Amino acid sequence: MSVSAYLDHNATSPLRPEAFESMVEALRAGGNPSSVHAAGRKARGFVEAARRQVAGLVGALPGEVVFTSGGTEANSLALSGAGRRRVLISAVEHDSVSRTVPDAEIIPVDGNGVVDLAVLEQVLTTTREPALVSVMSANNETGVLQPIGEVVRLARAAGALVHCDAVQAAGKVPVDIHGLGVDYLSLSAHKLGGPAGVGALIVRSGAPFETDRRGGGQESNRRAGTENVAGIAGFGVAARGASQSADFGSLRDRLEIALVQIVPKARIFGSAARRVGNTTCVSMPGVSAETQVMALDLAGVCVSAGAACSSGKVQRSAVLAAMGVAPNEATTAIRISLGWNTVPADIDRLIAAWRDLYIRVTQSDIPRAAAA
Ligand code: PLP
Repeated sequence: MSVSAYLDHNATSPLRPEAFESMVEALRAGGNPSSVHAAGRKARGFVEAARRQVAGLVGALPGEVVFTSGGTEANSLALSGAGRRRVLISAVEHDSVSRTVPDAEIIPVDGNGVVDLAVLEQVLTTTREPALVSVMSANNETGVLQPIGEVVRLARAAGALVHCDAVQAAGKVPVDIHGLGVDYLSLSAHKLGGPAGVGALIVRSGAPFETDRRGGGQESNRRAGTENVAGIAGFGVAARGASQSADFGSLRDRLEIALVQIVPKARIFGSAARRVGNTTCVSMPGVSAETQVMALDLAGVCVSAGAACSSGKVQRSAVLAAMGVAPNEATTAIRISLGWNTVPADIDRLIAAWRDLYIRVTQSDIPRAAAA
């Protein structure tokens, strides 16, 4: 099979070559950043350079960056570190938020997946207990962007703190923690061309923060544990690359127009909302997402079935359910996500494979497994 078209950047984005190089350099150098000798100082140099690069991506001060083992840990640190018992989250948050605070009050979203600000305002004012509001920036399944500025305005008026999971937004749309006014912001390296297993929580200077990670006092006592120097170095270089990335919007728009021309009943979820330019969540009515993913894979195109969980099994999408999408339609939705190395030929390949599949299913030699 010829080289595949990798269009699953929201799952993980391929490592950028320059990030790989910096990781190899850091691995070769070795050393513990806490050691005072030359090797330690060299390792410290990698970590602090990366801290400046990651801070630069989101308009933060370097001292506000706390390196973590990824977006999941960053979310968990924010949710516990803010020290608020009352937590409000949107209905479309990633599992690493919703499952960390199972008692959270859920703010619904509309049919386009945008958080209902009127409900948020009303819930915020129901008790005087100060809350933490956690609302993501870009959704991992649909790419829909939340109105974070408005969320912050309402939260501030009610004395609440704000956490924003910007894992899928950073590097795709401009993110400025101070411009937005959020207190905590989560990032993950492997969504923007860095390695998996490293991320960051940005803690705004002055925001309350009580860590639950005790140990050696690394990261200015905010996240104990010897730093993953090579991973952090790769993250920094990837963050620098992501801040210069091109917009994928025109490629994605061309893709969506073609998909709907081929399958007139195809639905693009969240298309009426503001979205990041790299993500399309689209249905092929009557054909299960698993069938589509397998057929596209055979044609050398990698996409995912809505929310593929960590076990790779396709689960019912909580995001589409929250948007009011019926289960039998949601099970026909796939997610296509572009990234830093996507070229027009990848899009052409996907369009051709989607067309072939649709022709085959309409001639019904593939089971039209409606609801998986
Ligand atoms: N938040 C969002 C929106 C995500 O899409 C993901 C990963 O899919 C995470 C958090 C978790 O990030 P990580 O894989 O680095 O733990």
